[in-house]
Amino acid sequence: MNYERTFRIEPGGKVKLDRFDPGYHGKLAGRKQAADEIDSDCDKMRELQYLLYAENRHSLLIVLQAPDTGGKDGTINHVLNSMSPQGTYAHAFKVPTPEEAAHDFLWRAHKVAPARGEVAIFNRSYYEDVLVTRVHNLVPKDVWSKRYDLINAFEKGLLENDCTILKFYLHISFAEQLKRFKQRLDDPTKQWKISEADYKERDYWDDYVKAYEAIFKKTSTKHAPWFVIPSNHKWFRDMAVARIVVDTLESLKMKVPKPKIDLAAIRRKYHGEEMKARRS
Ligand code: AMP
Ligand code: MG
Repeated sequence: MNYERTFRIEPGGKVKLDRFDPGYHGKLAGRKQAADEIDSDCDKMRELQYLLYAENRHSLLIVLQAPDTGGKDGTINHVLNSMSPQGTYAHAFKVPTPEEAAHDFLWRAHKVAPARGEVAIFNRSYYEDVLVTRVHNLVPKDVWSKRYDLINAFEKGLLENDCTILKFYLHISFAEQLKRFKQRLDDPTKQWKISEADYKERDYWDDYVKAYEAIFKKTSTKHAPWFVIPSNHKWFRDMAVARIVVDTLESLKMKVPKPKIDLAAIRRKYHGEEMKARRS
């Protein structure tokens, strides 16, 4: 199955999120069946990130958006962490600080955009500025409605600098979210993540769906596509994200850089006869 093609949102396409089944898991029955594929893709991802770092030509930006409990942290901790911390980093976008809020909304994103050779993972992103901001009227409509074009221009700018962009929406159902909140409530290692505000935010679920649909329609472009990943099953989410990242990195056709030195001369000089002669 080609996950890249199946879950990618076509540019300009009208998206109805309720047409995407968050519980979809293809023909596989469960995590056990997917485990080998996930492991093998994580290995490939590590090798490809090494090439990206070594070549120092491309960069990769991975944007993760989802409702609370959608699996942004899980995807980072179980899949994207296969890449080396040397050249890969994750950045979480929180409520803007006073300094961030005093700037244009893209300022804080641009500062942490990946340099050549780097992979940046955004846990939430500048898309919050057309999401939570829109749903809760944090700025007037004539301000947020201009942001889609600004985002497209920003992403085009990154692209011009050889940055590849992948944007994942981790799609879970309303019922699955409540189930996961309950699991958090019962797990002493996860209780810190819950606030009552998270439950109250569920009243706005339909507004978030609308805001996401507008995002997909206006900002899924050929070079910075959105993927709607069925995420009720964590293993399927992991498998699909890993595969799309690997396919995308493979399409860059990266190669180990050619050495800049004369290997034969170095071998001769430091490992061969000349060296032995000098030692004796
Ligand atoms: P979490 O990811 O669960 O740690 O929560 C981060 C919180 O920051 C979420 O409630 C986001 O909606 C909020 N947030 C992120 N970016 C913005 C933004 N630009 N404006 C307002 N709230 C934001
Ligand atoms: Mg949260």
